[in-house]
Amino acid sequence: MLLQKLGFNIPINAWIVFINSEFTLYQAPLDSPIIFPTQINRFLKKLDRNTSKITQKHRALAEKLVSLHIQESPYKQLPTYEYAQLQKGISCKMCGGISVLIEGKTCICTQCGQQEPVESAVLRSVKEFKLLFPNERITTNVIFDWCRVVKSKRKIGEILKRNYKIVGVHQWAYYE
Ligand SMILES: [Zn+2]
Repeated sequence: MLLQKLGFNIPINAWIVFINSEFTLYQAPLDSPIIFPTQINRFLKKLDRNTSKITQKHRALAEKLVSLHIQESPYKQLPTYEYAQLQKGISCKMCGGISVLIEGKTCICTQCGQQEPVESAVLRSVKEFKLLFPNERITTNVIFDWCRVVKSKRKIGEILKRNYKIVGVHQWAYYE
């Protein structure tokens, strides 16, 4: 449809390409036009071997398609949220539960038993915070409150210092 609208008349072969390497589709019919993660390399090589000479027409089409690429999905629907509404704490990297406790230098999930070093769990939480609040500055106080279960503010500060660049001094300092 799009190609016709653009005035290009070339045949199209369609495949469904699954790029998630952890994905499996059981009992997929053998003749279906599906490319699984383990087949992608072989498929690309085959495409390379089979392609005909690239002409000006192909280049024009490629440029047209690139120019029509939509960066932001019009179907993106984010719920509205505010910091105060969100449950604080560290989420489990395995099950996503928020009932994670700390013993020594280890986070332990009370739901699934998953263990993770506190430092990597805090850094994961910082990433989540940045994703949720891209305009907020990362400070010791902010992350201390966000992680909640880490009882030592000094420890949060040390983790941030080790992994981020500090900007500014004293109470105005933040990390990026
Ligand atoms: Zn868990």
